[in-house]
Amino acid sequence: MAAKILVVEDEEKLARFTQLELLHEGYEVETVGSGRKALEMAVQHQYDLILLDIMLPELNGLEVLRRLMKERPTPVILLTARDAVMDKVSGLDAGAVDYITKPFAIEELLARIRVALKLHPAVGNAGAASAEGSRDEKGVLTWGPLSLDDPRHKVLYGTHEITLTNREFLMLKTLLENKDIVLSRDTLLERVCGYEYVGETNVIDVYIRYLRSKIDDVFGVKMIHTVRGVGYVIKPWEEDEQK
Ligand code: CA
Repeated sequence: MAAKILVVEDEEKLARFTQLELLHEGYEVETVGSGRKALEMAVQHQYDLILLDIMLPELNGLEVLRRLMKERPTPVILLTARDAVMDKVSGLDAGAVDYITKPFAIEELLARIRVALKLHPAVGNAGAASAEGSRDEKGVLTWGPLSLDDPRHKVLYGTHEITLTNREFLMLKTLLENKDIVLSRDTLLERVCGYEYVGETNVIDVYIRYLRSKIDDVFGVKMIHTVRGVGYVIKPWEEDEQK
């Protein structure tokens, strides 16, 4: 089934051009030019991916993103202006999976769309787009008593709900999707923080520390293992894990 993409862009020419290119690639595409209307559509229908311009009439893209993440979390790629660094940071913090700077090359946009669809299968087709072994049909990743419900953006340990920031959530999700595979700090940085943090791998150590303080330390388990000089890994759950 073709992935369904919503293009939110008020510059009609760009919206039309993007729509034609995406249709040509075989995606199902709808376009909308106002932030308010976009939010309405995105909450009512389940899109596999949303391309969201930030500068929009009525309701700006970041506000649309924040409300959408509360009401119906959906993978979002932001379209940003070249010099709008703060927009990119706020956008990723608010839950966008990626951004692309305008004007963009269509090949780059298509590549980012393919990656986003692969890494973030939306509700309804979770798992279909990837070979992840540990994600069940509802999009839930587990490690013993811990479960990460990706579509609902919720993490539980047994019946305790764990509150994570977007970055912590993305980090845990990335580690769980790659269970038993050691991920380098560079890989984690790219997946969790995006390209603008290249080289700042100590950011990853900080997020690992936050995760451990919220999970390992609280529940007395050793979930995230450090592989010295390489990176981090979550190994498969073993019954004797609980100390
Ligand atoms: Ca615009």
